[in-house]
Amino acid sequence: MDNAALKEKFFEKYHGEELQNCIQCGTCSGSCPLAPYMDYGPRQLFQLAREGDMEEILKANTMWLCVSCYNCTVKCPRDIVITDHMYTLKKIALQEGIQAPTTKLPALYKSFMGSVERYGKITDISVMNRYAFRQPMDVMGNAFLALKLARRKRLEYKVHPVKNLAGFKKVMKKARELEKTS
Ligand code: SF4
Ligand code: SF4
Repeated sequence: MDNAALKEKFFEKYHGEELQNCIQCGTCSGSCPLAPYMDYGPRQLFQLAREGDMEEILKANTMWLCVSCYNCTVKCPRDIVITDHMYTLKKIALQEGIQAPTTKLPALYKSFMGSVERYGKITDISVMNRYAFRQPMDVMGNAFLALKLARRKRLEYKVHPVKNLAGFKKVMKKARELEKTS
């Protein structure tokens, strides 16, 4: 998708048009605890969205670093639900297969989701395995820590799925269907 199509998707399908109300006051960026580490703070990100530079936005680490603390949202003078837009941008980046080169967090998110979809929950070993597959170089860096945790019996090796896994998978399937039609 090109910038224009991505902007249309964000603004029309996912309510990004709300960003037209942004007055660029910077309260969001000023109140965000992660802003110093973001490629663009929320204020800059929304300006880029209005300019239609969606590819630049989707390559940024901003939404991946967002920890959903809602600081920005409760302080925004225009009542823009900034945190929800961060979720939307993550969703669009994944749908479009656009990677954020300055963060590995998308790999961690996918590993979490892989575990939830397979077992209905997150377990240490299932997330670690999935993450190692996506970021093999990180395995070496964390091997010592993993060994330490294993020695102290702080690593759960055996995966016990949730009780009604079949029911859980039906819920996930329905959620996926709704996501496609929303
Ligand atoms: S706080 Fe709200 S109005 Fe101010 S820059 Fe951020 S999004 Fe825009
Ligand atoms: S919700 Fe996200 S973007 Fe907003 S202040 Fe918290 S970390 Fe920053």
